[in-house]
Amino acid sequence: MTVNRRNQAVRAAVEQGLLTEERPVAALLDVAGIRASAGALRTAFAAVTDAPVLHAFAVKAAPLVPVLALLNAEGIGAEVASPGELALARAAGVRPGDMVLDSPAKTPGELREAFALGIAVNADNPQELARIDALVGEGASAPVGVRVNPQIGGGSIGALSTATATSKFGIALRDEGARAAVVRMFLDRPWLTRLHTHSGSQGIPLARMIEGVQEVYALAEEINAAAGRQQIDTVDIGGGLPVNFASDETDPTFETYARLLKEQVPGLLDGRYGLVTEFGRALLAKHGTILARVEYAKVSGSRPIAVTHAGVQVATRTVYDPVSWPLRITAYDGAGRPRTGEPVVQDIAGPACFAGDLLAEGRALPLLEQGDVVAALDTGAYYFTNHYGYNSLPRPGVHGFAVRGEVVEFSLVRAAQSMAEIVAESGGGRADALL
Ligand SMILES: *Cc1c(COP(=O)(O)O)cnc(C)c1O
Repeated sequence: MTVNRRNQAVRAAVEQGLLTEERPVAALLDVAGIRASAGALRTAFAAVTDAPVLHAFAVKAAPLVPVLALLNAEGIGAEVASPGELALARAAGVRPGDMVLDSPAKTPGELREAFALGIAVNADNPQELARIDALVGEGASAPVGVRVNPQIGGGSIGALSTATATSKFGIALRDEGARAAVVRMFLDRPWLTRLHTHSGSQGIPLARMIEGVQEVYALAEEINAAAGRQQIDTVDIGGGLPVNFASDETDPTFETYARLLKEQVPGLLDGRYGLVTEFGRALLAKHGTILARVEYAKVSGSRPIAVTHAGVQVATRTVYDPVSWPLRITAYDGAGRPRTGEPVVQDIAGPACFAGDLLAEGRALPLLEQGDVVAALDTGAYYFTNHYGYNSLPRPGVHGFAVRGEVVEFSLVRAAQSMAEIVAESGGGRADALL
């Protein structure tokens, strides 16, 4: 989002009453930005392969039905990893043929549903494959792949590194005998036609992501050679393109990634293999902004602290792991105009009852005052969309916006959670249950 577009949207959000005393947090999504990222993704891969490519948005990055429908209108499908995510994708109108099911712990019922709908499934392990064998034996059919872990190593964020030696995901290819066993799995099952890896993520260098794709491509070639035919027709390369949280620049771009793949894994892109991608963060992160009112401005141990309404409930990763997940914060006055003035080192605190509930610690910003507004940038993926219910703080409303000349038009994507909903979801109808 450009600075101007963001400032225009913040000003309009304040003027149009999106932030109030009762609703002191609001989340914004830039519709034009989301469309542009979807277009950039499609263009990037169309430029490097003639084969069919399904771009399946990783629903967990922004599990909002209108977002899935918007992406779908831009030609993007859905990667789902739970019954809930599958239900969201269906509610958004995503066709089963444009979905991929990747849950690490699929139940028999989940597998049966996917097969009944014709949704592609990536099996995580041999036990899951045995369940799929049974379904295939009953005559069901859907595109099926096997998820492999190339064990190329992790990145700077341990909790997000999927390709470590002991990762919980997929079949670990370098374990003793594992590679031969995977080849056998395919030779024994002529209907098994896909390979899947998701070895990138925030904190993983591009070169390492590409190494993961090279590994899975080499395995596809090995299996096809052993089968004497092109049994593997589609390779799912996962998502995981990292996002730049340090400035407004999009870096790396989808174009860069696709070009590097073309250079370094040319055989995968020569038209013999269909592709599936599963990007989440890189499609949405830069298009979301959290706005929050500053309830109080105080000083503690000579450190200025702005006590805002946005904290762990909407920025869970940042609050619990601020070193891995720093967020840019910008300051606005109560009318939604950018605050100017000498930067002062201060803390931006959230509303939750624990000391670590800080959006930013020791950050140099124009001194915030009571009634001001702060914006947490690049929060369109895995932030306000993935609410954390600490202190019974409500889920904020999410508003899409479009700028038409001088006018900013908002449309409600998700209503703010009401107090009545919080009470009801917390056993409110069962006050006597334990008496
Ligand atoms: C989380 C996930 C993704 C998306 O990852 P991003 O880093 O958001 O692009 C894709 N595929 C699988 C299997 C995942 O678990």
